Amino acid sequence: MNDTIDFRSVMIHLGLNMRQKAGNYACPFCFKKSFTVYPDEKAHCHTPTCKWSGDSLQLVCDVKSISRNDAYKELGLALKENFIHIKVKEQTYDEAKIELAKDLEFLAWVRMYEGFYDTPYRIDRRVLEEKTGLNKSTLSKIINGQVGNAKTWRTTLEVLRGSIDIERLKKDLLLKEKYFERLLDDEKRGRDIKKYQIKKKRRSKK
Ligand SMILES: [Zn+2]
Repeated sequence: MNDTIDFRSVMIHLGLNMRQKAGNYACPFCFKKSFTVYPDEKAHCHTPTCKWSGDSLQLVCDVKSISRNDAYKELGLALKENFIHIKVKEQTYDEAKIELAKDLEFLAWVRMYEGFYDTPYRIDRRVLEEKTGLNKSTLSKIINGQVGNAKTWRTTLEVLRGSIDIERLKKDLLLKEKYFERLLDDEKRGRDIKKYQIKKKRRSKK
């Protein structure tokens, strides 16, 4: 199964740095920018002292220091959860429409997520830029639902799906104002209640 898995999607799933330099990534083993991904979905590190070479299954084994059997299970699970994907050659117009609609719904939740949460659940855009290898403006366009390059779009959506817990937002929304009441129990936010509170002015008697 591993020869058809999109190698880059596995790199993203593993949280590796996706910034490229002259078409190469930072090798997860020797950290030199000499890690090349080939069209057969295998990679090779060109640093003579490292020379790591392998497919996505091998990558999971070596990055996580787990057995091939465990790595295989992990890839299967990641596929099921849509964190990684199989290389798809072609798509019909209708298939593309259904997939894009799902992505746009997900992105609408991402924007809601960003609006809803403050620290510690806030989305760190700089971390996302690092994970996707995109600049600020390209990342924003995708989060806002502007379709550009198909490949960039897909890898970015994978990063977002792997880093943002939309289910948490859906649960917290169900709590309605109770969610915020819990936040206000925090000592610092307690000061906000005092600022907000309307009090009758007391006149001092003479
Ligand atoms: Zn290397």
